Amino acid sequence: MFIGSSAMTHRSSRNTVNLIVFLASLIWGFETFAAATNMNSKTVSVCFVNDHGDVLPAAQTNKVVKPDAEWRKMLTAEQYQIARGKGTERAFCGIFHDHKKPGHYTCICCDLPLFSASAKFDSGTGWPSFFAPIAKENVVTHADNSHGMRRFEILCARCDAHLGHVFNDGPKPTGLRYCLNSASMVFKEKKAAQK
Ligand SMILES: [Zn+2]
Repeated sequence: MFIGSSAMTHRSSRNTVNLIVFLASLIWGFETFAAATNMNSKTVSVCFVNDHGDVLPAAQTNKVVKPDAEWRKMLTAEQYQIARGKGTERAFCGIFHDHKKPGHYTCICCDLPLFSASAKFDSGTGWPSFFAPIAKENVVTHADNSHGMRRFEILCARCDAHLGHVFNDGPKPTGLRYCLNSASMVFKEKKAAQK
């Protein structure tokens, strides 16, 4: 009787272990599946600006992902060719290379703030140039070895729009030159301070 009861206990604890293993594998499987199907709703940490152009602390936001046909519909042919097709506008031809108003520049594709006019300088290259982004979180850079050159491409952190290239021959304080395409950006003029 005593032996029988011990065998029963042993069997039921083994069943419990099997059940736990089974449930754990179900949960693990579900999480793997959820991660795989979450590819298009990835989030990214970026900084927005308030109505006065002040940069706010970094916050999580969804990445902007659109089918190619939608980008074509919302952009001009030139904007599409540059921002989605990694093109480059001709020097001295973009609308912002000699633009000096106070404010900030946002992404043509997703409106994320990218560069402040206070970081803009005249590089003499014919492209709008900045020594720093408005927030380091808002742009990402990738090595770009196309056209026989070793450069670093600048992309919008939220929608992966091509913005331009960054070089290490810029002025102080960073020594960097973010060389932008005007066609990848929209300008937001700084509102006059309220009296
Ligand atoms: Zn963008």
